[in-house]
Amino acid sequence: MSEDVFKKIVSHCKEYGFVFQSSEIYDGLSAVYDYGQMGVELKNNIKKYWWDSMVLLNENVVGIDSAIFMHPTIWKASGHVDAFNDPLIDNKDSKKRYRADVLIEDYLAKIDDKVNKEVEKAAKRFGESFDEAMFRQTNPRVLENQAKRDEVHARFAKALNDSNLEELRQIILDCEIVDPISGTRNWTEVRQFNLMFSTEMGSTADGAMKVYLRPETAQGIFVNFLNVQKTGRMKIPFGIAQIGKAFRNEIVARQFIFRMREFEQMEMQFFVRPGEELDWFAKWKEVRMKWHKSLGFGDNKYRFHDHDKLAHYANAATDIEFEMPFGFKEVEGIHSRTDFDLASHEKFSGKKLQYFDPELNKSYTPYVIETSIGVDRMFLSTLSAAYAEEVLEDGETRVVLRLPAALAPIKLAVLPLVKKDGLPEKAREIIDTLKFDFKCQYDEKDSIGKRYRRQDAIGTPYCVTVDHQSLQDNTVTIRYRDTMQQERVAIDKLSDIIADKVSMKNLLKTIG
Ligand code: ATP
Repeated sequence: MSEDVFKKIVSHCKEYGFVFQSSEIYDGLSAVYDYGQMGVELKNNIKKYWWDSMVLLNENVVGIDSAIFMHPTIWKASGHVDAFNDPLIDNKDSKKRYRADVLIEDYLAKIDDKVNKEVEKAAKRFGESFDEAMFRQTNPRVLENQAKRDEVHARFAKALNDSNLEELRQIILDCEIVDPISGTRNWTEVRQFNLMFSTEMGSTADGAMKVYLRPETAQGIFVNFLNVQKTGRMKIPFGIAQIGKAFRNEIVARQFIFRMREFEQMEMQFFVRPGEELDWFAKWKEVRMKWHKSLGFGDNKYRFHDHDKLAHYANAATDIEFEMPFGFKEVEGIHSRTDFDLASHEKFSGKKLQYFDPELNKSYTPYVIETSIGVDRMFLSTLSAAYAEEVLEDGETRVVLRLPAALAPIKLAVLPLVKKDGLPEKAREIIDTLKFDFKCQYDEKDSIGKRYRRQDAIGTPYCVTVDHQSLQDNTVTIRYRDTMQQERVAIDKLSDIIADKVSMKNLLKTIG
């Protein structure tokens, strides 16, 4: 897939009511999006599939819905106030903003490329007898580049560790890094930029308090750990799941709903005995990958990407990446967070957040495995995988969304062949019996062919056409989205035919 297809998916999303730019009539708000009439249905179905897979399939996982506003000290304890930062720098000529660390990382990657090309060239020249290790140790050009890289890398790592912003800037100047747009080295100072949005709670007269819009939903789970454990009489191991909005003031926000400033997360924190966390980490990796693959987009579209560099609180971390039109990208993170969060909240709040384990007859601070997936990224991966342009036998093309039937926004379209002779009434009758189970759509405008295309474009798995024969023998034509095949069936059989395929239950059974 290519950027070109990606552009088509973005415009398809708008044209068919899946995703709109926020505040569009005011020229939009950057990296904020609204879900339209189709988008909200698809999004709700994705959320339901995740929620049920957590809360129905696991007796020991329960859900909560915590507030977006939380006590500001929570974000001190979690490390977000001090460390949820990106260093940014502006180019005075292009007026473009960059992440200083990314500019340096790109520079280092260029040196790596140079060295690797040198090695490849030599490998070709020497053929079989090529000794790569020896070449890397002795070739003067490689050695020179490698030394330069090591030196810059060491300075860079130290500057990041010490949060030394001046040094970051100095590295950019010393390496003569230019702005890719203006081509100049006219850089501003480097500033630390915290990704959290803040606002004020209470009127200023009585001393307003600075509060944050949560940058992740997880902390709402941690601070409710004991509430849920006690009131739900939960025994370790157990999990708490939550779906909700999160906010990050991303510096470089692009790629549609891949990187947004307001987005939604589905997170689950699983509390375990210390020492058992790596087994649970392996287990949740497997469970989550199975969930993704169950949607049938093709196993080759997923891969794990283990983190080499772990966050200070983690002792294992991996991403589930999906092949987006612009390459493999993170959709979900699975992290072994040790007891970092609970222990830190104990320290900052002064309240004990421990669990008494009756089997071990002792209290401890549980360790945590987190699974964290972005609803919007899941939405984008679902659409990217489902979007297809097909050339039909008659030479026409159709755009079809091959969505898993359980996720499709509309399950069934009911189409009277003509707008008269009692056919619309018959169609409405069918909808009135099926609407309690399935989201149905009635459409009588344009030719049947055009109406089929419209339903293909929003991924409706079934179209039912009501014709004159229907009035006589209570049968209709049902058309299947993927094969475009049609068959005549009795109206009272429709419910069974459709239910089987669109049922969330059947999808859950494939993983449960
Ligand atoms: P990235 O490296 O892409 O910024 P991250 O590692 O910061 O992501 P996490 O903090 O692990 O992401 O968040 C968990 C999940 O939340 C991600 O896997 C992603 O699906 C989603 N997510 C994070 N940031 C955004 C965003 N700005 N827009 C949309 N989804 C996001």
